[in-house]
Amino acid sequence: MSITIGLDIGTSGTKAVALDASGTLVASALEEYPLYSPRPGWAQQDPADWDRAAVAALARLTAQIDGSDVKAIGLSGQMHGSVFLDADNAVLYPAILWCDQRTAAQCAAINETVGEARLVEMVSNPALTGFTAPKVLWLRDTEPALYERVRKVLLPKDYVRLRLTGEFATDVADASGTLLFDVKNRAWHRELMSLLGIDPDFMPRAYEGPEVTGTLSKEAAERTGLPAGIPVVAGAGDCAAGGVGTGVVRPGVLSASLGTSGVVFAFADTVKTDPHGRVHTFCHAVPGKWHMMGVVLSAGGALQWFRNTLCDAERAVARDTGRDAYEYITAAAAQAPVGSEGLTFLPYLAGERTPHKDPFARGAFVGLSLRHGKAHLARAVLEGVAFAMRDSLEIIRGLGVPVAEMRATGGGGRSAFWRKILADTGRAPMVTLNVDEGASYGAALLASVAGGLYGSVEEACDAVIHETGRQAPDEAAAKAYDGWFAEYQAAYEALAPGFHRAAARLEEEA
Ligand code: ADP
Repeated sequence: MSITIGLDIGTSGTKAVALDASGTLVASALEEYPLYSPRPGWAQQDPADWDRAAVAALARLTAQIDGSDVKAIGLSGQMHGSVFLDADNAVLYPAILWCDQRTAAQCAAINETVGEARLVEMVSNPALTGFTAPKVLWLRDTEPALYERVRKVLLPKDYVRLRLTGEFATDVADASGTLLFDVKNRAWHRELMSLLGIDPDFMPRAYEGPEVTGTLSKEAAERTGLPAGIPVVAGAGDCAAGGVGTGVVRPGVLSASLGTSGVVFAFADTVKTDPHGRVHTFCHAVPGKWHMMGVVLSAGGALQWFRNTLCDAERAVARDTGRDAYEYITAAAAQAPVGSEGLTFLPYLAGERTPHKDPFARGAFVGLSLRHGKAHLARAVLEGVAFAMRDSLEIIRGLGVPVAEMRATGGGGRSAFWRKILADTGRAPMVTLNVDEGASYGAALLASVAGGLYGSVEEACDAVIHETGRQAPDEAAAKAYDGWFAEYQAAYEALAPGFHRAAARLEEEA
């Protein structure tokens, strides 16, 4: 039997999956760990927790399978986090995570030094507080004595790789989120590092996703119970690994994820960059390819807010019937017509990333009238989130990336009604799949290529990922939505100055 393992170093825990040659999940294990926020806006983790969790998860997998069947291990993980190591590979400071907001001053300094437009030209992305480069500068500005001792800066999964194999390495997809990587040429951007005064030796060698970066060391073998010498492949940051796990590996294929946040993820054959930096452009885990990504901060999260705040009745019925409150809410929404009779919802409950890059944007119901009831409110929430996803889709389409189908993932993707709204607002079929295991599954598929089970990432995806349903867009609804989408976009433009004034007033009152 041939088995490949995917190991995903997530934010809430590390997930390990074992697949057989047909892509069937034969074992899985999840190990959780805490996230520390010692100050408002800070988000840190202890890399030792990741190491412990990875070893524990692998050990639990090993108990369920025959370790000698394992052909390769693939890694994926939360992107952008920074692990600072000294000359003895000791961790110098807690890992600063993707969601940490402490680096506003360093982002401003990067823009000042490099210029915003030139930065996007160099690394295909703008300076965002969550990215790795500003974190490196933050440590230099804030903890100069520690910074003196830094010899390596690793991404979260690559610290685990070091512990498993003894090698310093990363992959091109994860490297793309550092803001130090030349995404077009798939190599570290030495000129930018020199401009920022960051030692290029800090960064490990970057490999393509299915390339082998080392083998399981004797020590790691003893800790996990797996045999020493198993190849460990580069893998990918969790976004690209998730893309592989949903088969977004060919032109025209996208995924639309409705988790707490929403992600529109598109395959790109050639590198395309949004000059305004509204969508990310990263290297894909498919060798020589790229992906683009738009992020909606509150997608499923907006519906969850609606459920928790305004749907006590639906929750009570759900409790009594043993069903899910979301089923009652979406069924009610289906009673209202397309466009919710002029009611528009902005889902910016936690600010918005794509396209506005506006932390002060806020949610709104616009156009309420006496005609509107709960069904309209529910439908407006589902439509507002779909419009937010369409904003990303339009930018991606505008850059010449083909959109032939969107693959539904995340909790919201389970709703046939929400999938229909996404198909109609986005004018693209919404497809459901036989798998929704996320990044760990994609990492295992990357390992299966290195393990010789498949000739390429595309071949691996074709063999194991299948369509289980397809919702085509309805032209009449799509046409009606075009008009309401224009109103949706106009509503943000009209309200934005008020959002910013309100944020300033709240700041004064605090
Ligand atoms: P996370 O991003 O936290 O992992 P999930 O992918 O599990 O989240 O998605 C959770 C979200 O999915 C919920 O906030 C909710 O909006 C949505 N959701 C879950 N079940 C349903 C359903 N049956 N119908 C519509 N939306 C749902």
